[in-house]
Amino acid sequence: MPYADSRLRDELATATRILAAHDLIGMFGHVSVMTDDPEHYLICPGAGTRKDLCRASDVIELDLDYEFEPGLPLELYMHAEAHRAKPDTIRSLVHVHSPALTSLSALAEQPSELLMVHAGFWPESMPIWDEPELVRDRPRAERMIDLLGDHALLLLRWHGAVIVGTTLKEAVFRSVLAETHAQQLLTALSHGRPLAPVPEDVSREDLYERLLPPFTHDLHWKLESSFVPEPPGARPV
Ligand SMILES: [Zn+2]
Repeated sequence: MPYADSRLRDELATATRILAAHDLIGMFGHVSVMTDDPEHYLICPGAGTRKDLCRASDVIELDLDYEFEPGLPLELYMHAEAHRAKPDTIRSLVHVHSPALTSLSALAEQPSELLMVHAGFWPESMPIWDEPELVRDRPRAERMIDLLGDHALLLLRWHGAVIVGTTLKEAVFRSVLAETHAQQLLTALSHGRPLAPVPEDVSREDLYERLLPPFTHDLHWKLESSFVPEPPGARPV
């Protein structure tokens, strides 16, 4: 018997299409959300599927111990181990191979400046996973989640990023903003002109709470989901 209701399946499919519309996931990349049962989560289909056409009926429900098989994301372990280790704080995880975050990941030193007030979730000291390998097994996934700690974002060197949220909507919104902020940082490094970042004595946590409270996640979701309706001809779940 499935643990997720149809509403959550709809939402995970919508999240997949939103992330695809932003070129955050495509050939690679995936998104998950926990069900009400702590042993089960929903995840989008794996590599090579049309994420922009994801339907509720394409969404896959797995238990935390489920092993990879064709059709699933190869790196599903990062989702399973995040939801196992931090079920209260990581309700949703997004993994991207997007251009700006991936480019940033290859810098020897990470810029710490905050150039956008809406990126208050950006870590002051960026955790970097620096194994030139996919997160394709549980031990790697456990180490990666340890490294992430309580941060919202982790970079995987030469690979991409992981973004988490306490809700699916938060994780999706943060993913869109993270790619934008990464692009801003890369642009700043390219032009080399003096920067005027958000002052260091401004608390990023306070900034995030003030500028991105949950109702803004709802507004973002409502707006973005209106651009990516479920494709016609969906099969009943
Ligand atoms: Zn990956």
